[in-house]
Amino acid sequence: MIINKELLKENAAILGTELSDEMLDKFDKLADLLIETNKSMNLTAIKEPDEIVVKHFADSISLFSAIIPENGAKILDLGTGAGFPGIPLLIARPDLNLTMIDSTEKKLKYVAKTVEALGLDAQVFHTRAEEAGKNPIYREKYDIVCSRAVAALNVLSEYCLPFVKVGGTFVAMKSAKADEEIAQAKQAIRLLGGEITEKKTFFLSDGGERTLIIIKKISHTSSKYPRPSAQISKKPL
Ligand code: SAH
Repeated sequence: MIINKELLKENAAILGTELSDEMLDKFDKLADLLIETNKSMNLTAIKEPDEIVVKHFADSISLFSAIIPENGAKILDLGTGAGFPGIPLLIARPDLNLTMIDSTEKKLKYVAKTVEALGLDAQVFHTRAEEAGKNPIYREKYDIVCSRAVAALNVLSEYCLPFVKVGGTFVAMKSAKADEEIAQAKQAIRLLGGEITEKKTFFLSDGGERTLIIIKKISHTSSKYPRPSAQISKKPL
C-alpha cells in the first residue's frame, strides 16, 4: 500500500464524498502508477504520497462538494494533464460518462493506460480546446465541464463554455486569488452564454485555499467562439 487510505477517506468525507474500500484500492493503484510513470515522464511536481492524496485526489473530488452529477452525466475534463480532476472523479463515480482532453499527447497516453489499468471506462482525446470546441460532436454536448490549472478564468471560459449544453454547468477549479480572476472574466462569461451562480471557497487539509466557481450555461455560445489560439492569447475576452 502506497497511500494512507485513512487520510484520503477522511479528506474525502470532509468534502462530502464517501469512498468505499474498492475505491480506496483504486486510488492506491493510481498513486502507484503516477509515481512510477513520473520517474520517466514529467507528469507532476507533487511526488509524496500524502501530498498526492491531498493536492491531487482530495482536491479533484472536491468538485462534488459544489455539484452532484446525475447518474451517467456527460462530463468533460479540459486540460486533464495527468488525469486531474478526471480520473479521481471517475473512481468515485464510475457511472459518469467522462471525456478527458489535453493538447499533450504523451500525458494522454498515460491517462488512457491508467484508466484501463483501473478497470474504468472513459474517452480520452488528444486535441486543443479551441479545435474540439468548434466540432459539432463535442460542442454544447456536456452536462458538466470542469478544468483545473489550465488558464485564467477569462481564457478558460472561452475554452470551456462552448462544450457545455444550455442548462449545463462549467466548474472552474481555482486556488487563491479567484476573486481577481472573476472580476476580469465577468464580461467574457456573459459573452459566451454563461452566468456565475455560485462561488465556494474552502481549505484543503494542508491549508491550501481553493475556490470552485460554478457557471451555468444560460444561452447558446455564438459560433464566433472559441476563436483561434493566437487571438485568444493576444486579445483575451
Ligand atoms: N488539470 C491538470 C493539468 C494542469 S496542467 C491538473 O490540474 O493537474 C495544464 C494542462 O492543460 C496541460 O497538460 C496542457 O497540455 C493542457 N492545456 C493547456 N492549454 C490547452 C488547450 N488549449 N487545449 C487543451 N489542453 C490544454
